Amino acid sequence: MTDYDVIVVGCGPAGLMACGELAKRGLKVLGVDKKPRLDKNYRTASGYCFLDQPFNKEFIKMTPEGNKTCLEYTKIGFTLEYSGTMEGIYHSHMFSDTGKHWQASARKKPFYNLFVPSKCQSDRYKWAKKQGTKFMTATVAVKASQTDKQVELVVRKDGKNKTLTCKKLIASDGLSSRIARSIGANEGRTLFGKGPTIEYEMTDVECPYDRGDMFFFGANNFGGMAGGLIMVPSPNGKNAFRLETMSVLPASTSTAIIEHFTKKGPFSHWFKNAKIIDTSGAVVEMLTPMITPYRGNILFVGDSAAFAECLYQSATMAGYMGAVCTEMELHGKKGFEEYDQFWGKHFEWVKNPKRMADYTKRVLFPRFFTVKELDFLFELSEKNPIVVDEPAATPYDFTTMVMQQFMAMPEVPDDLKKRMQDIIDADMAKVATVIGKGQRA
Ligand SMILES: Cc1cc2nc3c(=O)[nH]c(=O)nc-3n(C[C@H](O)[C@H](O)[C@H](O)COP(=O)(O)OP(=O)(O)OC[C@H]3O[C@@H](n4cnc5c(N)ncnc54)[C@H](O)[C@@H]3O)c2cc1C
Repeated sequence: MTDYDVIVVGCGPAGLMACGELAKRGLKVLGVDKKPRLDKNYRTASGYCFLDQPFNKEFIKMTPEGNKTCLEYTKIGFTLEYSGTMEGIYHSHMFSDTGKHWQASARKKPFYNLFVPSKCQSDRYKWAKKQGTKFMTATVAVKASQTDKQVELVVRKDGKNKTLTCKKLIASDGLSSRIARSIGANEGRTLFGKGPTIEYEMTDVECPYDRGDMFFFGANNFGGMAGGLIMVPSPNGKNAFRLETMSVLPASTSTAIIEHFTKKGPFSHWFKNAKIIDTSGAVVEMLTPMITPYRGNILFVGDSAAFAECLYQSATMAGYMGAVCTEMELHGKKGFEEYDQFWGKHFEWVKNPKRMADYTKRVLFPRFFTVKELDFLFELSEKNPIVVDEPAATPYDFTTMVMQQFMAMPEVPDDLKKRMQDIIDADMAKVATVIGKGQRA
């Protein structure tokens, strides 16, 4: 006899979805999380999502319903309610080291939609609780061990250790999964790098450009420090943006970058009346994905098994499938094998390592060019604005779209065109050579 049918370790988007779906199916489920509250997002997240377009072999259909939104996962076949409205974003910007500007705009379909991560967390938490999930918050899962019949989980709450048992365990404890480390499930995964991010969510930002995401790179923007910064519009206030840094460890570099950018950098005048309404942070670890996301009675769901990130929408999808397949296992069927099939089919980097590179190029491709080359390209794009009807703008395809737009410009010399084709073709080994580096000299 075990304490629970299923224990879900980690109650982010993947874990909360798994908890609710398992409880809905009548199973005795416990959600464990180190956070004190589960209705709030603490970890940095910009809030973009890809709806009404294919992404990770799913197509989420969005239907506004007054001040709520119905999200239908049309391929896997389940529906969620989001208690807010989505905002389509039609513009995307980049700024080079010397302040040259690049813009792409979409006419018919937005690049992506914006949601509020905390609202999403709160919706899933309330729903999971209503289905009958029990939660243990402010509780750290320390380690797991298993026999062929059950899993033992050691948790620490209020300074005391306790052992809980379950028939199956879902590890949805995100990147740097402690459960994965405790049972050796990360063996064979390659680490490409680890980087900190700090987010300031600010209102009253006086940004003169069309509402869209803004990507800044080049040491000049950050007082000589290597790194990058992305500003994504936020629905949480007037002229609000989330500013997120990209840099290398130690994490103090993130703070130095964001402070310089908003107070002393060439764009600091945008922030002279701005107010910080929230701050958050995260450390992002980039490991190759788990190829087989289960070990015995433990299933790894969402970012715990991923290359970099599943994003909220696909972590939720993974949580749903994790619950469906775990129920199958409990009924003596090969549910985890079924999950394995789902994992390999939907997350392309599991079977095709090049897709890891494609995903990462979204923020790394500027490093393949010199400051001069990028200035030349950005100047050209101001003369030949990039306007598309329905952009292929998911992180997988964004860089190819940008490179192809540049390659179509007659003024671009052949050697640069060749470099762009090389960037399109680059695999992770090639991309890894620029991780942690600044702009080419
Ligand atoms: C800078 C940044 C920007 C991002 N922007 C976006 C965006 O715009 N849109 C988007 O969709 N996604 C975005 N993401 C990615 C997104 O946050 C993740 O892909 C998503 O949260 C993964 O969900 P998950 O449930 O698998 O893991 P997580 O959300 O990481 O949840 C893991 C949970 O496990 C808990 N946990 C961890 N270890 C333990 C332990 N030992 N014991 C108990 N509990 C534990 C954590 O507290 C957490 O609640 C961003 C991420 C970063 C870092």
